[in-house]
Amino acid sequence: MRIKINKITKEMIGKELTVKGWVRSVRDQKAFAFIIINDGSSVEGIQVVMNSDLPSFQEILAKLNTGASVAIEGTIVASPGTQEFELKASKIEIIGECPEDYPLQKKRHTFEYLRTIAHLRPRTNTFGAVARVRHAMAMATHKFFDEKGFKYVHTPVITASDCEGAGEQFQVIIEPAKKDPSKEFFGKPTFLTVSGQLEGETYACAISDIYTFGPTFRAENSNTPRHLAEFWMIEPEMAFADLKDDMVCAESYIKFCVAYALEHCKKDLEFFDQHIEKGLIERLKHVLTSDFARVPYTEAVEILQKSGKKFDYPVEWGNDLQTEHEKYLVDIHFKKPTIVYNYPKSLKPFYMHVNDDGKTVAAMDVLVSGVGEIIGGSQRESRLDILEERMKAQGLDPQDLWWYSDLRRYGTVPHAGFGLGFERLIQFVTGMENIRDVIPFPRTPGHAEF
Ligand code: ATP
Ligand code: MN
Repeated sequence: MRIKINKITKEMIGKELTVKGWVRSVRDQKAFAFIIINDGSSVEGIQVVMNSDLPSFQEILAKLNTGASVAIEGTIVASPGTQEFELKASKIEIIGECPEDYPLQKKRHTFEYLRTIAHLRPRTNTFGAVARVRHAMAMATHKFFDEKGFKYVHTPVITASDCEGAGEQFQVIIEPAKKDPSKEFFGKPTFLTVSGQLEGETYACAISDIYTFGPTFRAENSNTPRHLAEFWMIEPEMAFADLKDDMVCAESYIKFCVAYALEHCKKDLEFFDQHIEKGLIERLKHVLTSDFARVPYTEAVEILQKSGKKFDYPVEWGNDLQTEHEKYLVDIHFKKPTIVYNYPKSLKPFYMHVNDDGKTVAAMDVLVSGVGEIIGGSQRESRLDILEERMKAQGLDPQDLWWYSDLRRYGTVPHAGFGLGFERLIQFVTGMENIRDVIPFPRTPGHAEF
């Protein structure tokens, strides 16, 4: 029976079993050969010892190239080497040979190069580890919200409304409608969603606490290490909740994910700590023990102005915070995750609750080290008249969002929510610098191969 390599423990010494996986490396010592096999279940492979008295030793050895797939039967034995145990082979079967032109030979490759072979990069240690952490963070997300009584709602990928009003939408077009608008498939122009929030609100205003977890699309023309054209977002929405509740939820969700990774992805995090970001595990533990800083936007601006630091982008009330500003707040001033809230109205979309000062909205961004903004959220405007005013002020026709306004017309409630970029969470937890390397198939301007 086949066993996954990560399930083998030193208690199994003396046991006979079968592993299946891919050859990482072979060392031929004449009387025997050492083969490292990896099946992706863990960052560590298993060392297989193959004695030269095995039938067809030379023949098999000749085919044991890096990348070949194999099935190995043998006995777990105590290892004289650095590892606790190894597999003493009694039978080796080559399942799929791997010719010499295999692009992933043992030497290290740059992440840039690996992006050009995105179909093979999951076979590397780094991308295997990212895939496992990504899985764990998805599980943690569902566990966190489920335990808190949130319901998972599937919002549409194709939509007729522009949530962020940022003009970053991909349009959905079918050929006949290009020539004849009356043939528009949905009867009107539609787009790939930039956020499931508006639809999510309809369910929050019915079954109280919900979350979405799905792909979102933004025609971001910014080539940054933090933006993708297709990314996954988690968007909880809580009924009978205000901005404070929103911040509490955001902070505990991030901490839950970090704790989950430390518990379930120990070996992968050790790998990232060693090879990607020195001190990663310490940084993550620090997140768990910190109360996130909370600072109103106006105060954050004052902190930046008084910092005495020369910034490339001017710090002025009314301007958006740039990466350099976020870095200063998180890494130098507060030295822990920081929630900036109550932003100028003009910087934020129409749906955010207007504060009593008339100048700011009840928005919040969670900023973390390395990544910058990981969460953007707000209390929603629950007053119909102010909502419609804000729509008009931002050039939107309230008619187009009549159903959204209905939520305020019929039994309106204060409600709040946020969006967390799943890939930014993976960057945060792994220390990976480029967002293209934490999603299996990154979509960025000019890149949609695979
Ligand atoms: P940014 O200022 O970094 O572009 P945003 O203000 O556009 O972010 P929101 O509209 O608030 O972001 O979206 C919620 C979250 O989604 C962000 O906090 C971020 O984690 C993530 N996010 C936004 N745009 C992208 C993108 N293009 N690629 C990956 N994640 C993104
Ligand atoms: Mn953006």
